[in-house]
Amino acid sequence: MKAGGDKRKKPRMTDYSAARDVLTTDRDKLVRQMADLGANESGELRSDLDFGEGFADAAAITAERTEVIGRVETLKIHLDDIDLALAQMDNDTYGVCSQCGSQISPERMEARPISRLCMTCKSSL
Ligand SMILES: [Zn+2]
Repeated sequence: MKAGGDKRKKPRMTDYSAARDVLTTDRDKLVRQMADLGANESGELRSDLDFGEGFADAAAITAERTEVIGRVETLKIHLDDIDLALAQMDNDTYGVCSQCGSQISPERMEARPISRLCMTCKSSL
């Protein structure tokens, strides 16, 4: 006689599909924002980018270019964080503190899917 109790035994696979969705969506958004600024996924600005339009002098063009580079760099840092988190999901190190190796609380990972430090290590920084 079979009890049919197998259903209760849910394989405890690490399931980050929700976090992966969030990160993938964020990633697409970042790549689009970078493209809007004239940069590719590596954060490199298109060389043919024209900053001249509407600017009277070279100083203003340089200032504008510097600002764009700064914004691209910020986006690129975020993109790298996301790529790292996605890579960690693939090799099963996602949600593990990079400092002490302990499991980061699911609540923290949910609040900030790119967390790489547990609360203890984070607060001792
Ligand atoms: Zn830690």
